[in-house]
Amino acid sequence: RSDATAEKEMTLAIIKPDGLYDNYTDKIKNAISDSGFRILNERLVQLDEDAAMSFYAEHSSRSFFSDLVKYMTSGPVLIMVLEKENAVADWRTLIGPTDASKAKITHPNSIRAMCGKDLQRNCVHGSDSLQSAQREISFFFKEKSPGSGSMGHDEL
Ligand code: ADP
Ligand code: MG
Repeated sequence: RSDATAEKEMTLAIIKPDGLYDNYTDKIKNAISDSGFRILNERLVQLDEDAAMSFYAEHSSRSFFSDLVKYMTSGPVLIMVLEKENAVADWRTLIGPTDASKAKITHPNSIRAMCGKDLQRNCVHGSDSLQSAQREISFFFKEKSPGSGSMGHDEL
């Protein structure tokens, strides 16, 4: 399908530590391409505590924040930039609701229903707005200036 005039959009997707550990990468990538997204860029990284805290800064005052940081640093994550028309909203729809245990009932065809476990371990991330997508993409893919040092995520 191609429409030269349609505006493409980018969003950030992450396969979280549980998704990688449980070997869902291929299934998730199949769902991504079957739904018309193109993977523009990807990195396998191990987040450190500072990077996870900074990435999820909007949740820093929430009771689940420290557990979230522990979860996101518990193993490698696969970061991907996805492109298609309406990518931000369409990726959120494809992954389903935050609570994977509820997704299994209400959105059985969603990615979180397929590979998530519960409210925390929901196997994938998706940017929640165009503005978040731009921030999150540059968080992981901004060009590093020479000598800028570690950005808190070790390349694997
Ligand atoms: P989403 O990832 O769907 O945008 P949020 O931005 O609200 O959800 O939360 C970020 C992540 O924090 C979630 O994906 C999930 O891993 C975790 N999380 C959210 N709410 C809770 C909660 N009440 N208890 C435990 N973990 C949570
Ligand atoms: Mg969110």
